[in-house]
Amino acid sequence: MSLSVPRLRIGSTEIIALADGEGPFFSPRAEAFPEATAAQWAEADRYDPGAVDAEGRWRLQFRAYAIRADQGITVVDAGIGPADSPAGSWAPVPGVLPESFAAAGIDPAEVDTVVLTHLHTDHVGWAVVTEAAVPSAAGVLDGNASTASATSGRRPFFPNAEYLLQRAEFDVIDTLNPQLHETLTDPLAAAGRLRLLDGDTPLRAGRAVATPGHTPGHQSVLVADGHDMALVTGDLLVHALQLLNPELAYAHEADPEAARHSRERMLGRETAGTLHLATPHLTEPFVSA
Ligand SMILES: [Zn+2]
Repeated sequence: MSLSVPRLRIGSTEIIALADGEGPFFSPRAEAFPEATAAQWAEADRYDPGAVDAEGRWRLQFRAYAIRADQGITVVDAGIGPADSPAGSWAPVPGVLPESFAAAGIDPAEVDTVVLTHLHTDHVGWAVVTEAAVPSAAGVLDGNASTASATSGRRPFFPNAEYLLQRAEFDVIDTLNPQLHETLTDPLAAAGRLRLLDGDTPLRAGRAVATPGHTPGHQSVLVADGHDMALVTGDLLVHALQLLNPELAYAHEADPEAARHSRERMLGRETAGTLHLATPHLTEPFVSA
């Protein structure tokens, strides 16, 4: 895959798309969106022809975003991860996010904030890594050696960042994926890097917005400047079907009703300008609502 670095400017803030991988979905796409009609599929395929492959499978992108503002660098989501990542059970690991950061000219050590939209494995892959997974980055370990050994050699990939997760998401780890205590939140907490949010919260760049439904504590990031707005969606929508038809459920939403409500609320937002969307899974890194 190519490592071009698409960017969107909102006022003085820059949103940078960071590719991590691409590959087919693990089940037939009709099962993923059981309510979609043939006409809706046809419309979605015209809108995003790259999201279906020659065998008729859903083809997904997996990407993260960086938001570069005067006040620092925020990263939204952490991709599918390295070869030993839990997402490897279905996603095309190893991802190439470290190379994408290099192509964008961003050192992970510069990142001061990481917003995890939710705890599915394809969004937290690089958040915490093992030394074995990223040996070349061992130099950034510095003073964290004791922390790393206390948590089975795992360390935050962004060594100087605070990681933000909604408390409503943290509270359901046992339901979502109990393994994440050991592989994600315990190492972050041990390093003093985990901060739990209660709903909408101002960030250095933009604001975290609670968008529950896909998972109980799902969140998105809204960046606004005058009339221009961008929403880094996370999995608020996962396919063009849900952009064109926000009412359509995705089969793996924890609460389809809440997910639909979050989608309709965010996509139907009144704005005098353009609402740009930065989505992890659509073919184009930036689309308009
Ligand atoms: Zn996802």
